[in-house]
Parts: sequence; structure tokens; C-alpha cells
Amino acid sequence: MFALKIFKRFSPVTKCVHLRSKQVFTVSMARMQHSQSQHGETAAPFRPETSTATTLMDIGTRRIFSEEHDLFRQNVRRFFQEEAVPHHAEWEKAGEVSREVWEKAGEQGLLGIFTPEEHGGIGGDLLSAAIVWEEQMYSNCSGPGFSLHSEIVMPYISHYGSSAQIERYISQMTAGKCIGAIAMTEPGAGSDLQGVKTYAKRDGTDWILNGSKVFITNGWMSDVVIVVTVTDREAKTAAHGISLFLVDNGTKGFNKGCKLEKIGLKAQDTAELFFEDVRLPADALLGQINKGFYYLMNELPQERLIIAVMALASCEFMFEETKNYVMQRKAFGKTIADLQTVQHRLAELKTEICVGRAFVDSCLQLHSERKLDSSTASMAKYWASDLQNKVATQCLQLHGGWGYMWEYPIAKAFVDSRVQPIYGGTNEIMKELIARNIVSQK
Ligand SMILES: Cc1cc2nc3c(=O)[nH]c(=O)nc-3n(C[C@H](O)[C@H](O)[C@H](O)COP(=O)(O)OP(=O)(O)OC[C@H]3O[C@@H](n4cnc5c(N)ncnc54)[C@H](O)[C@@H]3O)c2cc1C
Repeated sequence: MFALKIFKRFSPVTKCVHLRSKQVFTVSMARMQHSQSQHGETAAPFRPETSTATTLMDIGTRRIFSEEHDLFRQNVRRFFQEEAVPHHAEWEKAGEVSREVWEKAGEQGLLGIFTPEEHGGIGGDLLSAAIVWEEQMYSNCSGPGFSLHSEIVMPYISHYGSSAQIERYISQMTAGKCIGAIAMTEPGAGSDLQGVKTYAKRDGTDWILNGSKVFITNGWMSDVVIVVTVTDREAKTAAHGISLFLVDNGTKGFNKGCKLEKIGLKAQDTAELFFEDVRLPADALLGQINKGFYYLMNELPQERLIIAVMALASCEFMFEETKNYVMQRKAFGKTIADLQTVQHRLAELKTEICVGRAFVDSCLQLHSERKLDSSTASMAKYWASDLQNKVATQCLQLHGGWGYMWEYPIAKAFVDSRVQPIYGGTNEIMKELIARNIVSQK
């Protein structure tokens, strides 16, 4: 029902999608009826895993998804092809995407999918949200910071916000009219979040916020930022003295630095944020005072899962790009794909990607059932993002000099891969978390 729910919600663009989808849906139902056995039992339609599919990005594959998800995926794929691919080069030059693409994504129901409908989100399932993350990677358009906005920032507001905060922000965020960011990292505190120095001091019922943040995704375009802040310098540990605040763009004393120049993610607006005597009302506090660190620990596994899912999808995209390239590139009177060393490299890459896919899909399934623990999410993030970089290096190599040229998609995928083991907690920190869990077991 989820896909149809989205189509009903957004008009007029999506109305025609709704009609078109309904037709496809009827066909799918007929196919399902055909799969009834002679004894009248309904057999689940066969869904191949990616290892046996024609391409690693085929629609209609993987046991964790349904035919409804396939319909939704078709529309999401079309959205990225029509609304992101033609503009991406221009966004890379600008260092930011357009406001229009955010609002179009909102109209199509691609934002806030996993946020409850009663809060103003779409009320869809995790797997539908994951389809948007994957399709963005399949389009090789890293610009729009949709996943951070929808499945990292919105959950904090939905899970810990007051009803007034939920009402104020969520429906606007679902519509793509209010862009969200989360500001944890500071020039002197990245991996060690307990080293945060940004400080909010009470002034009557208000708070006065001072400090700065760096490397903030969606930072330049943000309309609201969740700011990780010290509120009790005397707490028994630093973690016990951290709170979260919602700070609106335009608040006096809140300034954005320049868009940071990065080696990849060229179309994504990563910025520095400065807070100088920013007066915040009591209702800017998100959740309870001094509970911020606890909220971060609760929400970080989902962020790590998103990175893992996007990493795997990027691997699949790079593999398909490279397979197509080597099958047409000629050398020594035949194609590169005719060389056995190249064939073996492709075999290794495909095997590793399919093995990774099985683990990441199992994590998606677990998280759908709210059973994904922090340590397993860390394994997925570390392993999948390392694999992404390995695949990027080897696929670029198979492109030869052309792979080093910006006009070739593999070049962009290569530089975009590099940050994945760094943000969302570095892979070294992931190993710390996994190891802590191992050695704490008696
Ligand atoms: C493009 C981009 C987007 C980002 N988006 C956001 C965002 O939206 N919001 C946000 O808050 N932050 C964001 N970040 C910041 C990111 O999360 C941090 O860069 C990351 O957590 C690492 O922190 P750091 O850069 O301070 O590195 P450091 O913590 O200084 O680490 C340096 C090196 O030391 C290693 N290291 C540190 N501690 C340990 C340890 N205990 N054991 C072993 N090794 C260790 C690290 O693994 C790393 O290799 C973004 C960063 C980038 C590059």
C-alpha cells in the first residue's frame, strides 16, 4: 500500500504516476495469481538475488523487497534520471544543488518516507527509504543531501521533539521546503564527540549559544540545524552534559561560513557554521536537557546503515559501468573483457559485491524489524565503505586513462567514495565499537 499512499498524497505531478502505476500494479497482481500452485497455495513470486540477475541494479530482485517496492523504485529511478542527472554538472560548479530539486523530491514523496504520517512524514517503511538512498547512488548524483535530511535529521525531531516542534518542522521538511542539517563536528572535536566545546548558557528561560561547527552537510542550504551543545560543564562526564538545540537559519548571531571546497561530493554544500551570542528560546531545546549524547548514540546506527547501503549501491553502479566499458574497449585486436586477467578481476569484484549485498540486505531487514544493534551497523558501515573504495580503485584502473577524466562517471564515483570511511564515525572508530562489544563478552 505504501507506494499508492505516496501517489495519493502528492498531486498534480504524481497523479499521472499514480494512474500509470496502477496499471503496472494490475499486471503484477495477475503475475502473482499465476504463481498459485496446483493445490491453490499462493507461492511468493520468485525474486532473484543480484548474483543471478542480468545487472546488479535490476528492478524486481532481492527477497527483502516486494512488487510494490519495485513500482516505487521505478518512479524514484525516473526522478533521479530526470531531475538530478541533467543538472548535476551545473550543481558541481555551484557547490550546491537547487532548491527546486528539494521541492520536487518533496512533491514526489521522496523525503521523510520513514517518518510517521501522524507527524507529517510519509509513514512508509524503511525499505522504501532505502530505495531512495540506493537509486541516488545508481544515478551517481551525490549532490542532494536527501538521506541526511530525511533519515538522519528528521528522526531526531520526530523521536525527541515536542508536538509544537514536530508540527513546525516535519511537514515542511517532508515537502522539501525546510532543509535540515545536523552539526556535531567542530574544528577540535570529530571522532571524540565528548570534546565538543560549543556551549549554551542559561539566561532566564532563554539560552545563549556560542561556538562553531565544521564539515556540516546541507549546512549552506539549511533552514534548520540540530546543534550538539554543551549545557553542563560540571557534569560527571562530558556525555552527561550535552544537549541538542534546533537553530533556525536567520537567527541573529547564527552565521554560515563559506561552502567548503572538497575533493569529492562536489555538488553537496558542506559548510562551517558559527554561533555568536545566539539567543534561543527555551522551546529550541530538542528533547530533554543533558540527554543529547544519549540521543546521538540511539540514532547513529541508522546513519551507519545508510552509509553502508549507499556504499553497496555505489559498488553495484561502478561494477556495471566498468563491465560495460571493458566490453566495448578494444586493445590488441579484441575487447579488454576478452583478457583473462580482466575477467578474473570482474569475477572477484562481482563476488565481493554480492557477498556484501547479502550482509547489508540482512542489516536492512533487521533494522526494519528494529533489531539492528549498534555493533552490527558499525560492521556494515566499515566493511561496505572499505569495499566501495576498493571497487572504486579497481574499476577506475580498468578504465585506464579515461577513468581519470571527470567526464567519465567512474571518476566522480571514485572521489565520492573516499569520504565514506571518514564520516558517520570513521572506520577506525567503527572497529573500536565492534571490538568493545567482542571483548566485553564474557
Ligand atoms: C564531506 C563531509 C561531510 C560531513 N558531514 C557532517 C555532518 O553533516 N555533520 C557533522 O557533525 N559532521 C560531519 N562530518 C564530519 C565527520 O563526521 C568527521 O570528519 C569524522 O567524524 C572524523 O572526525 P575528524 O575529521 O575530526 O577526524 P579525527 O577525529 O581528528 O580523526 C583523525 C584520524 O584519527 C583516527 N582516530 C581518532 N580517534 C581514534 C581512536 N580512538 N582510535 C583509532 N583511530 C582514531 C581517525 O579514525 C582518523 O583516521 C563530515 C565530514 C566530511 C568530510
